[in-house]
Amino acid sequence: MKLVVMKFGGTSVEDATAIDRTAQIVASRIARGQQPIVVVSAMAKVTDQLLSVANCAARGDRAGALAISARLRCRHRDTASALLPMEKAAVYHTWMDVRFDALDEVLRGLAAVGELTIRVTDLVASYGERLSSKLLAATFEERGIPATAVDARDIIITDSQYGRAVPNDELIEQRSGLHLLPLVEDGRVPVMGGFIGANEQGVTTTLGRGGSDFTAALVGGAMNAEAIEIWTDVDGVMTTDPRVCPDALRVKTISFEEAAELAYFGAKVLHPATILPAVQKNIPVLVLNSRKPANEGTRIISLAPHCRSPFKCIAAKRRLTIIDVVANRMLMSHGYLKEIFDVFDRHKCAVDMVSTSEVSVSLTVDSNEKLPAIAADLGKLADVKYEGRKALVCMVGENIRGQNGIAAQVFQAIRHINVRMISQGASEINMSFMIDEDDVDEAVRSLHATFFENPDPEIFDVKAREAARSALASIALASESVKQ
Ligand code: ASP
Ligand code: MG
Repeated sequence: MKLVVMKFGGTSVEDATAIDRTAQIVASRIARGQQPIVVVSAMAKVTDQLLSVANCAARGDRAGALAISARLRCRHRDTASALLPMEKAAVYHTWMDVRFDALDEVLRGLAAVGELTIRVTDLVASYGERLSSKLLAATFEERGIPATAVDARDIIITDSQYGRAVPNDELIEQRSGLHLLPLVEDGRVPVMGGFIGANEQGVTTTLGRGGSDFTAALVGGAMNAEAIEIWTDVDGVMTTDPRVCPDALRVKTISFEEAAELAYFGAKVLHPATILPAVQKNIPVLVLNSRKPANEGTRIISLAPHCRSPFKCIAAKRRLTIIDVVANRMLMSHGYLKEIFDVFDRHKCAVDMVSTSEVSVSLTVDSNEKLPAIAADLGKLADVKYEGRKALVCMVGENIRGQNGIAAQVFQAIRHINVRMISQGASEINMSFMIDEDDVDEAVRSLHATFFENPDPEIFDVKAREAARSALASIALASESVKQ
């Protein structure tokens, strides 16, 4: 069996046009001889709206909550009408009305009680994926793809940590064998919601926000799929932000570890921790753009492929603050660093980068309103200064392990920029430094020009850049001739 788990994010099912495109993508995989299992998110923004409707009800705003729920009902009803012939749409409408009526009952209850537990929050949030998966399956059938909607709560069995439930791999494997395998063997496409699950007693749980990728990896792992495709609205991982550097290239293949380093920078691709179940089983994960299905995307694999270039990506994180703590007693004395970190711990503030010398410690944190209070507490231990509007630039690549002269090339490229802190070694695959926020764009462009001018065509999509450059050149030529 050539099983492929295809996960579609909220934007891939946001309206009738997107759902139609999604049906075509699934059909293209079947045409290739693959057998898809589809995992789908709620329609774009629906989870946010469900969470706010629950809060609205619990605040006692019964009418407000019911009005939002009515709008959600309309959106699903209209999308079904746009996708399906009348009698099929009517079947979905009836099914959907039962769910919305039940949701409205919960909302009235919340408004009466004035209290919202995470258990009920999970129940309310689960409607988004339940509604989208049923609609997607009906559309697939209508477009000639034999499909069956499967309730994810029969498969994704978790513990009872509502809001961020932990999946039970063994039970998921059992349940996948029970509910998914027979469908696939029958040549049908199971369509299930991501993000949601149930505990062993059948109470609805969720895997945490953005959890549909996690569902796809769990199902892919349980079913030993040959690939997992994450369909989203970006082209995949890029060498850097194309808005900062128009020369950015798509990265064709990246290792799991490299992708994990990048996740911290909030790159708009999946969070790698969620695909761990796939990586552990050596199943490649592809990030693909459902608006440009012919594009190859980015393949995330467990071991890095051979690459001539030292780096895969340059990422930047802005809005950081550097805190300098200058010891008025010996820094290296026993327990001193612990006291400093205890302050951050008390304020529940995560520290990103640390660098120490004999007399001082510099730390970086996200700029936030707790800083004055943190500085005041640190001030009891040492002299403290802090400075905002800083940014962290991070160069990621498996190939920097053990290569000579890389740091020299990096700092040569940004020799005109003031570097405040440097870190290399915590992970052998990244080199990071702190600079002023205002210098970020310049630094990124200059580093990109140094390291990605002659990229390895096996790893980077060089062709797209060449095409863009020659298109630009011909526009320039044309405007020259107009001037003459
Ligand atoms: N719909 C859920 C969310 O928005 C899960 C997902 O989209 O992955 O968080
Ligand atoms: Mg989402």
